[in-house]
Amino acid sequence: MNCILRGVRVIDPVAHLDSAGQDVWLSDGRIIAIYKHIGEGTLPVIDLTPKPGGQPCVLCPGFIDLHTHLRQAPNADDEHLAENILSGSMAAAAGGFAHIVNMANTDPVIDNPEIVKDSAAFSAPAPIQVLTTAALTRHLDGKELVDIAGCSQAGAVAFSDDGRNAATPRLLSEAIKTTAEFNKPVFIHPEDEEIIAQVNGVTDSVTGCSNRPPAAELKAVDFGIRAINHAGRGRLHFQHVSTAAAVEAIAKAKEAGAAVTAEATPHHLGMWLPFETAPTPPSLAKVNPPLRSERDRNAVVQALREGVIDAVATDHAPHRPESKGDDYEEAAPGFAGLETALAVCLTLGGMGGDWLPVLVDRLTVAPYRVLGDGAGIEEPRLRIGESATCVLFDPAQEWVVGDKPFFSGGKNTPLLGQTLRGRVLMTLFEGSAVYHDTERLPWDAPGGHD
Ligand SMILES: [Zn+2]
Repeated sequence: MNCILRGVRVIDPVAHLDSAGQDVWLSDGRIIAIYKHIGEGTLPVIDLTPKPGGQPCVLCPGFIDLHTHLRQAPNADDEHLAENILSGSMAAAAGGFAHIVNMANTDPVIDNPEIVKDSAAFSAPAPIQVLTTAALTRHLDGKELVDIAGCSQAGAVAFSDDGRNAATPRLLSEAIKTTAEFNKPVFIHPEDEEIIAQVNGVTDSVTGCSNRPPAAELKAVDFGIRAINHAGRGRLHFQHVSTAAAVEAIAKAKEAGAAVTAEATPHHLGMWLPFETAPTPPSLAKVNPPLRSERDRNAVVQALREGVIDAVATDHAPHRPESKGDDYEEAAPGFAGLETALAVCLTLGGMGGDWLPVLVDRLTVAPYRVLGDGAGIEEPRLRIGESATCVLFDPAQEWVVGDKPFFSGGKNTPLLGQTLRGRVLMTLFEGSAVYHDTERLPWDAPGGHD
């Protein structure tokens, strides 16, 4: 890779840079220069200049996903899984993500320092950076905290029982206090399990229950806010916020100075119920928390635009086809989301047009700040002369979901067959082209340095 990308919009939120009509000189995984016009000399030029009135391609720092399920536990067999570290990290690269935070609810659960250490080592060969979370409680059952000091030292960047929310506010408060000593945030899946159990009439696992009222989210968010206030320090992050009521509670807590942050998924930004046409099978639309009303969706979009919700996070949850069968109640919840995230936000999620630079912020520096400097990743910037970690995307390119095979082992999305706008053309991670669109950027193979 040694070329000039002509006519690009360069966005670097940390540098307050947003400038169209730029030429970008790339050489051997580095951005050598960004100028209004670079004479080509002997370099090949890839002209990306948009047609008059068209939208330019965007170059920005690589995306950070705070919420990914790669399914594969360290050293565990991946034969029966929908995803493994390699397929999931390739899917991330194709979606523009350079860093992803892998959730701990694998089998076995990542809930002790040894397995955290193994997980970090096992993920190290991935083409992008796979960061490891540790569970907050042993076996995710909300009874006993993990060894927070040990897991933190072993490389956990955050603590989360995602998928479950069984810890009492008191235990959560203790966890927030302890993780603060190691400069790590606690992430919670804010759905109150008691409410869900009651309304569904179950006494055991609530994970598969399809009736998940907004009140369950609000109660869990309120408990979380109470827990961090009681802790008096630390950081608490609310995962996949989906309701207007939770948004309001988080806004109030932030105004009062609580160290809380929040994320929204592309699907809660871009979809609401009822669908005009349900997907086939309908279980492809099953997700926790569920898709909500249009009013809730609008509140989530508004909150992301204003920064009440800090970041976009995919909650990429790949499943095998047999887990998304005809029986809605039995079907597993979750969508594969890494490869559609950008396009869903731009096309359906209210973050296209004038909101595009805000979206770039919410996919780069905002999630970086949620993790904090305890995660050990570099601030997302476009650094001249250094090995680049960045993404190039065309916000206007149309594509049909499912037309090209996913890198992910999970094809479970209600968007199959839909036309979206916004396509990643290239992802560089520390100087390596971990993904590139060979039609639009005709140079040699990804990963190749020429
Ligand atoms: Zn969750």
